Amino acid sequence: MSLHPFVTVTELRQGLATGEYSAVELTQYFLDQINRHQPTSNAFITVDEQGSLKAAAAADAQIAQGKAGALTGIPMAHKDVFCTNNVLTTCGSRMLENFVAPYDATVVHNLQSAGMVCLGKTNMDEFAMGSSNENSAFGPVANPWHAEHVPGGSSGGSAAAVGSGQVPVATGTDTGGSIRQPAAFCGITGLKPTYGRVSRYGMVAFASSLDQGGLFARTAQDIALVLGSMAGFDAKDSTSAQRHDSWLEQIAQQGIPQTPAKLKIGLPAEYFQAMSDTQQLDDVRNTLEQLGHTCVEVALPNTQMAIPAYYVVAGAEASTNLSRYDGVRFGHRCENPESLEDLYQRSRSEGFGEEVKRRILTGTYALSVGYFDAYYLQAQKIRRLISDDFSNAFSQVDLLLTPTAPGPAFAAGALKQDPVAMYQQDKFTVPASLAGLPALSMPCGFKQGLPLGAQLIGPAFREDLILGLARDFQQATDWHQHTPAAAAGDRT
Ligand code: GLN
Repeated sequence: MSLHPFVTVTELRQGLATGEYSAVELTQYFLDQINRHQPTSNAFITVDEQGSLKAAAAADAQIAQGKAGALTGIPMAHKDVFCTNNVLTTCGSRMLENFVAPYDATVVHNLQSAGMVCLGKTNMDEFAMGSSNENSAFGPVANPWHAEHVPGGSSGGSAAAVGSGQVPVATGTDTGGSIRQPAAFCGITGLKPTYGRVSRYGMVAFASSLDQGGLFARTAQDIALVLGSMAGFDAKDSTSAQRHDSWLEQIAQQGIPQTPAKLKIGLPAEYFQAMSDTQQLDDVRNTLEQLGHTCVEVALPNTQMAIPAYYVVAGAEASTNLSRYDGVRFGHRCENPESLEDLYQRSRSEGFGEEVKRRILTGTYALSVGYFDAYYLQAQKIRRLISDDFSNAFSQVDLLLTPTAPGPAFAAGALKQDPVAMYQQDKFTVPASLAGLPALSMPCGFKQGLPLGAQLIGPAFREDLILGLARDFQQATDWHQHTPAAAAGDRT
């Protein structure tokens, strides 16, 4: 059996189709990987051994009957922010430690209908707030390349699971960088689609105007195959986009469409100036030029206002979204409340962690009478300026190339006491989030033995361009094929 932990979805499709292995064998193989890594990695909050083996058996039956789809029997994992019927959904929080949703999120439903087998739910920063996975109530996650470094966040569990070969593909969510930054830190590929591309129904809300579901995998091609089944209009999400992109309808079967021969790629001056070392990015640029594309400098002049604006907007939305956790309807409830006030107060103080409380406090402050204009309204104006910066840039170029994060994965604990320094980790990912644009991170080199990511940002709904260029880059380079030493011995 040519199975190894770093096998791609593309290869797995082949293996299942030719009967090299069954879906049950495949599921058992990856369950074994998870169980072996879990004590050190902590990438999973729940492993659904029984459920996944049952789903795999059903996939095998479909394959036997010739009814298999492109993804039937492919193992995957969901970030624990997606509601799953019958399986715990904690969102990384004590508040929801016993919560079992009565329904499946649309993303969960879509991928299940496509025949994918969910092996479990991955660890994450509490309510998706964080950049290091150190805010999880279920403990931190180790970076696959260096156990004392963070995997990034908030989708740290999904990124580490894919990065260490525990699953070939996993979902994540990205509000300000939570797919792209952990993808960069773990040496894998991660896509945040355009806001509205993937349904938010059943995805526990953090900042509703920014939250977007997406994917982690080893290659852009793998992401594309799964995106085809995951994305699409959903009447249950009021901000879901009604689009008819023919490439998306065909991508699950045919893969990423061909990339236009000559693209104009913009390098935002503000992003590059903020980096002390751009060696790896310069190499990416060279590769893209060798592929026939042109790179030019562009300006995104309002970039430095993105972080302050994001933390006002995201905090404000979080403070309202999280008001539903009151100990009455669902979620953690304190023991023996003495009054309604006491019930609210203690349930919320016991259920939420420090970072979540910080966001609720700052968000409530930004929305309060007398401060609304100075903070929330101001942040909304900045959001528009940032969006206009991108529109301007995309009138000159087809795509943007930037670093994903200021550096490689930092050491665990290094930024925990300094929230503002932690927030700065998102400075290259937050602007595209504020503008609702699609963006991808792909591996592009190493620094001190830790992987680095390059970010491609595209115009709204042009995931095809981003994925196409990433696929071409991955055909020309082998950064995405490097695997962490700790797991290298696994290769057969
Ligand atoms: N790190 C950012 C934050 O803490 C982004 C999180 C995310 O994208 N979910 O808000």
